[in-house]
Amino acid sequence: MPTPSSAAPTNLFEDALKNLDEAFAYAEIHPEALERLRHPRTSIEVSIPVRMDSGEIRVFRGYRVRHDDTRGPGKGGLRFHPKVDMNEVKALAFWMTCKCAVMDLPFGGAKGGIEVDPKELSKLELERLSRRFIHRIADFIGPDLDVPAPDVYTNPMIMGWMMDEYCKFTRRHTPAVITGKPIPLGGSLGRNEATGRGAYFCIKEHELHRGWDPKRTTVAVQGFGNAGQAVAQLLHADGYQIVAVSDSRGGIYRKEGFHIPSLIQAKNDTRRLQAVYCQNKLCKLIEADTITNEELLELEVDILIPAALENVITEDNADKIKAHTLVEVANGPVTTGASPILTKNDVYIIPDILANAGGVTVSYFEWVQNRAGFYWTEEEVNKRLLVKMRTEFHNVYDISLAHDIDMRTAAYVLALKRIGEALTAQGTKDYFFDGVV
Ligand code: NAD
Repeated sequence: MPTPSSAAPTNLFEDALKNLDEAFAYAEIHPEALERLRHPRTSIEVSIPVRMDSGEIRVFRGYRVRHDDTRGPGKGGLRFHPKVDMNEVKALAFWMTCKCAVMDLPFGGAKGGIEVDPKELSKLELERLSRRFIHRIADFIGPDLDVPAPDVYTNPMIMGWMMDEYCKFTRRHTPAVITGKPIPLGGSLGRNEATGRGAYFCIKEHELHRGWDPKRTTVAVQGFGNAGQAVAQLLHADGYQIVAVSDSRGGIYRKEGFHIPSLIQAKNDTRRLQAVYCQNKLCKLIEADTITNEELLELEVDILIPAALENVITEDNADKIKAHTLVEVANGPVTTGASPILTKNDVYIIPDILANAGGVTVSYFEWVQNRAGFYWTEEEVNKRLLVKMRTEFHNVYDISLAHDIDMRTAAYVLALKRIGEALTAQGTKDYFFDGVV
């Protein structure tokens, strides 16, 4: 597990906003638009009393932030983690605003979470907590208001409970209130792997530019959860050598590469990351080195994929990164202080608001299908995702070439332009502002 580094920013939201200042110079938008993005529109903090299996009441703290809704309802995940706090949720909501704009989705940005270690709860406690939280924030969410989704340590099962609770609360069947649901409750085919698939499509576009051979390209993935497993699986199927993976307890390294379907099977069966090779249901341990999460980041590999939490690459370790390409599947894995060090060292970064945008894109597809009451095949979902990822990858890439700037700044330029255009199109609304809309 990455230890908090001395160079990690203390205020994640303020650090995240620094990206706007750099992009502003190229985005040609009114400074007032920038000022609006510095302040989340709505932030709520709720207490969530839950009856534990022991019969006692425990009170948890939950958050939901709608950062901006100029381009549409808020959209963003819900995180269950002991370190969730308002500041982190604000930063994550801000990134969602920018990500939805980069992908040209009709959404603003939002995020939420509960300060909890879900591994300490029984399944029934987790369900009571999830349902109670939705009760607390029910007035702040809705298909036209703010649409939650899964994030770290939340999954389709939890989204299904939450959707059901919202429907009970409103006495309406409203599947579009939440995305990332189980398929029988209105989830979209392809949503579970969408974040990893989107990142994979970005890597394939970059591969075309660089002309490398997948079979001779090594990859390390930090975080072997939903997003990390999906991107590792797709790259492995393509011939890439996945030489290291990790989870919260640490990592494994093998220079010949791992058979990723075996690692996924073992992790899902035992909830432990193990170096194994499986044939049918039979898994055998294979030789591999045990490494820490810090060591994984500093490995001699071609592609590094942080897919766990934010702030893992800071000014303290940026100089030690040896990969030539860094694909930010996690949100905010590189601090703004670390970014220039990586750029100076010729590390090519595919930024989070593009690289992990496959998840929210298929969440958008799910919302569309729920509202239309008409469902697509997995093939249709994946095809539409490919078109979206390719289009926006090239839009960002072209901006980076046109201004000779890195991909992160270019992605923020694109986001700012689109948000600025929407604000301008709203006309004088806020100029003569004397009432709340
Ligand atoms: P997940 O809960 O499915 O997996 C998280 C993984 O990270 C687990 O394997 C966990 O063991 C590991 N982990 C946790 N703490 C760690 C630590 N300190 N060091 C190393 N590994 C650690 O979560 P996920 O949905 O895969 O999300 C991972 C990242 O991707 C997050 O930053 C999330 O915001 C981002 N993301 C997810 C989605 C999505 O659709 N799920 C979309 C966009 C971005």
